[in-house]
Amino acid sequence: MNKINKMKITQRKNKNKINLLDMDKTKLRTYLKSIGEKTFRANQIMKWIYQRYCDNFNKMTNIGKNLQKKLKISTKISAPNILDEKHSIDGTIKWIIQINSKTIETVYIPEKNRKTLCISSQIGCPIKCKFCATGGIKFEKNLAVSEIIGQIWKISKLLSKKNKNIKKFKPITNIVVMGMGEPLLNINNIITSINIMLDKEGMKFSKRKITLSTVGISPAIKKITDKIDVVLAISLHAPNNKIRNNIIPINKKYNINSCLNSMKEYIKKSSANKGKATIEYVMLKHINDKIEHAHQLAKLLKNFPCKINLIPWNSFPGSKYKCSSKINIKNFFEILQQYKLTVTIRKTRGSDIYASCGQLIGNIN
Ligand code: SAH
Repeated sequence: MNKINKMKITQRKNKNKINLLDMDKTKLRTYLKSIGEKTFRANQIMKWIYQRYCDNFNKMTNIGKNLQKKLKISTKISAPNILDEKHSIDGTIKWIIQINSKTIETVYIPEKNRKTLCISSQIGCPIKCKFCATGGIKFEKNLAVSEIIGQIWKISKLLSKKNKNIKKFKPITNIVVMGMGEPLLNINNIITSINIMLDKEGMKFSKRKITLSTVGISPAIKKITDKIDVVLAISLHAPNNKIRNNIIPINKKYNINSCLNSMKEYIKKSSANKGKATIEYVMLKHINDKIEHAHQLAKLLKNFPCKINLIPWNSFPGSKYKCSSKINIKNFFEILQQYKLTVTIRKTRGSDIYASCGQLIGNIN
């Protein structure tokens, strides 16, 4: 057999191996049991993977030679490949990550007191919000757990290489599931991924530091209530159903009331949200940014426990939308404040490298 043939066989074998990055602790325990091992080994293995970024079973010195051997034969620890890296003048970094023959994007946003990683949940997005670049590309597939978790794992590993004290250094402090895709359409993989992010032997994030942004798939919000407790943000973007129907077509199925109602139930049971939902509102010139819209929004949310985050719209080639003027955003903000609502304006980051909200299309150029 020549060299090339040999390589193909190993590759195929590797492809068929079980990827440990697909498993949260419950799944890993079940797997270990199935190969005749003690379930407590799951804690040790997870610590090696997520706290030391170790992908070499030989280095997992406390799990015993026998288990090392079994894992080597039938499993792997494999995150997707990084194809390219782009740096913004404001410090934001965007990575283009390869998933089969397609690409997704992951964005790192460093600030003084926190370092946020914005991760993708799908390749493309089937929701097709009119003002979002991701909605304009073809929807390909839901990401696997290893492809969601792999984004955080790979980039943490990369950033940690620059720091000697790997145990103490936390390269990423916050996760926002706000990249490509609608996470609640990939609900099972998102639940497993969040379990890994929260696990004490896993990535050890606090539930207050993980934000999941959703367009508001009401039945899915109901489904995750009781299952995962993280900060939930809803992309409301309109003060009434007429405007929302126009910019977010799925509003015809899950309208504002049904979104807010399921959100309310989620918030009641969640401790991560501290009693307040996050409402996202993208500022689109002449569409949803008029004075009357601000009053309407304030009345809609007057009795709803929430924080409102106004998002200046980020442009992308070919879009007919425009961002509201600075003065309009300020006026809108002040009207909401007059109603005693908690409101902030999101700082735009990374727009020079097309890394801001709604600009992600997995483009390598
Ligand atoms: N599917 C999720 C995540 C989308 S991206 C959701 O709908 O929430 C995160 C946020 O960016 C959402 O609120 C989304 O509506 C918003 N967004 C999309 N395109 C945008 C753009 N061009 N400028 C600013 N925000 C945008």
